[in-house]
Formats: sequence, structure tokens, C-alpha cells
Amino acid sequence: MKVAFVVYYSKLNRNSFNALSAALGVDEVTKDIPIYFVKKEEDLIKGLCEIKQNYDMTVVGTSFFTTQIWEVNDLVKRIKNEHKEVLLIAGGPHPTGDIEGTLKLGFDVVFVGEAEDSIVEFFRRIKLDEDYLNIKGIAFLKDDNVCYTGKRDYVDLDKYPPFPYMLGKFGHIEITRGCPFACNFCQTSHIFGGKVRHRSIERVLEAAERMIKRNLTDFRVITPNAFSYLSEDGKEVNIKGLEIFLREVNRLYKPKGTINIGSFPSEVRPEHVREDTLELLKTYADNKNIIIGAQSGSPCILKNSRRGHALEDVYRAVKLSVKYGYIPDVDFIFGLPGETEKDVLDTIKFMKELVTLGARIHAHTFMPFPQTSYSKEKPGRIDPKIKETISRMLKEDKNVVFGNWTVQEREAERIYKYLNYGML
Ligand code: SF4
Repeated sequence: MKVAFVVYYSKLNRNSFNALSAALGVDEVTKDIPIYFVKKEEDLIKGLCEIKQNYDMTVVGTSFFTTQIWEVNDLVKRIKNEHKEVLLIAGGPHPTGDIEGTLKLGFDVVFVGEAEDSIVEFFRRIKLDEDYLNIKGIAFLKDDNVCYTGKRDYVDLDKYPPFPYMLGKFGHIEITRGCPFACNFCQTSHIFGGKVRHRSIERVLEAAERMIKRNLTDFRVITPNAFSYLSEDGKEVNIKGLEIFLREVNRLYKPKGTINIGSFPSEVRPEHVREDTLELLKTYADNKNIIIGAQSGSPCILKNSRRGHALEDVYRAVKLSVKYGYIPDVDFIFGLPGETEKDVLDTIKFMKELVTLGARIHAHTFMPFPQTSYSKEKPGRIDPKIKETISRMLKEDKNVVFGNWTVQEREAERIYKYLNYGML
């Protein structure tokens, strides 16, 4: 069958589609399937008029976070109105955590969890005119009931390139998936599992070389925890492995390129910020800042949300980062479930201490996400004392606090209503 894949390639889901189209691009059967990357809704709606004329089947894919559900809902309605005949598929964090809700938005198929293997099999089946619903890792509605075909094995990261270089598209290199910590507010361990899997150094360097050949010389990685690269369990740092990796990346990129590890789009666990990891960073990378996950200044909140580290780890990580010449950007989430007056005061005190040491605060508001232990919890509210502290800090230095905490406070409310009462 002659089939095309049209992806809604918005900024937030670019990495997902880079991985999926790379997988399609290296498979013998699917590599010739045309993929259209469309960045704007208007272009997608208009473009489909022409694209669908040329194929027996047009598959339109989107990947999204829970915060995007309203925008996606509108998009699905428009596509269903104007292009009834296309097959609409979804994947990513929200569809994986809320399969039924996503199908009821109007999607024909939801890809659950990591989708490289399933998307390849799905398109193979379509191309060969076989039953594409009879594969593992997807869900669809049958007589209004959800049919989930079952969990697939986790993807071997070495099996596919991180981006579709064969289509002239490049991006950040995903080096690790999975996280053993399973913090109560986070979807990562649910989507990718609690066991860490790494892309091998050889495959990372291969991808990096492809970028360098195109004169793309800014090396950045996707990982839940950059210093856990090559670690067996994701908890212990593999310092030897990390050194070999960074040395090899440095050899490739220097003297021209830049190497960023543990800063956008990756971050690090506070207990992994140590003299030896920072020494490596100093020797081989070019970071100006390090992003450290703290989330709260209250020992109680840290414990209840299963962060698996202490306040002292954060304090020490910030001090060490400053000593090594980095700006520590410390993540905080306000309004986490169970937050009391004391937790608020502890957090304020802790933020002030960190700022005095030289940290900046990356501020967030708690949003309940599907599949997590906190999915049914009340939306995060920022305590007025925290708001006051932030505005005082900002008066002294307009860069010392940054983030979308205000927008997230509103979004948290909407997400809560959707997850608990189905209100869209
Ligand atoms: S917040 Fe970080 S450490 Fe916690 S589960 Fe998510 S990725 Fe893992």
C-alpha cells in the first residue's frame, strides 16, 4: 500500500519524532515511506488536502504532554472535520498515561510507551497490506472499549540512530532512558522503566560525527540524569565510563565545537555532583551552568515524594558547582502534595541559602500527571509567602529566579479537572 506519514513537528515533540522517524528510516521495509514534518497547525490542515490525494493511506501522528491536551483536542477536531479519511495516531507522555482519554479525543491508535519498534512494525504492516492493529504496544477503541495489545519490550537504544540524519534532520542525542528513582510526580520511570538503558559510546559518537560533518558542533544530550551515563543501576556513577565517554566526545568536538553535559536539555541528580564528576566536566565540557534537581527545601516533602536524596546533597552540590566555576540552576517544584506551612518555610529558607551560595532557582508548580502516584492529587498552589520571596529575590537580581511557575499554576488546575472529572 502506498502510505505517507505526516508528523506534527512542534517544538515540544521534536525529539520524539526525531527518534521515530530515525527508526523508520533505517528499516528495510519502511525506509522509503515519505515523512512530512509539519510545524504549524494551519500548514498541517492545508497540507493534508494535497498529501492525502497521493497516497492510499495517510497517517497523521502527534506526540504530546498533558499540558498540550487542549491544543491537541482542537487539532484533532479540525483534522476529523476536514480530513476524515486520514488515520490519526498519538504517542508520548500523555497518551501513554491516559490511553482511554486520548482515544476518546478522536485518535484511531495510541502508541503506548516507547514506540520505535512498534511504529516500524505498524508501518511495515500497512505497507505490506497486513493487519496493522495486530501488533504489540498499541491501543485502539473497539465498540467503544479500549483494546490494548500488550506491553512491548523496552527499546535497545543502539538499534536506531537518535535522529533521522537520512532525512537531513539532527538534534540532541539521547544517551540514556529509564530512571530508578520513580519520584511520585514524574512520568519518566513509568514510560521508560526503572532500569537504565544507555546508548553505547560507539553509537553516540557515530551520531555526533554525522552532526559534525554538517557543521553542527554543539553537543547536547537527552537523559534523565547526565552523570548516570553508563551506570549499571542509574544510582552509582560509573566514573571510568563517564571519563572515556567525555574524552572521546571532546576529541571529536575540539577545538571547534561546544560540549554541554548536565545543562539544557539534560540535568543531574544532586548526589552525583561530586569533585570527580565536576573534574571531568571541567576537563572535557564547556558548560556554564549545571541543572540540579532539588524540588523542595523540606526534608518531609523530599521523603514523601520519594526523591531519594537529602537537602545536604543539594547544598553540597551547589557549593561544589560554584567552586568549580559553574552556575548551579536548581529545580524547585512548589505546591507538592501535602505541603504544610513548615514545608513552605523550610523551602524559603533553603532557597535563600542556595541563592546566597550562588545558585539560581528554576521554579515550577506541581502539576498532576497521569500514571504517576500523584496523578489524582490536588493541583499545586504557590503559597503567598513563596510568591513574596520570589518577587523580593527578583528585585535584587532579575535573573536569580526563572521558569514558568505562574503559567503552571493555572495549567495544574486545568489538568486536575481533566484527570479527575474529564473536563476539557
Ligand atoms: S524527577 Fe528525575 S530522578 Fe525523579 S523519576 Fe523523574 S527523572 Fe527520575
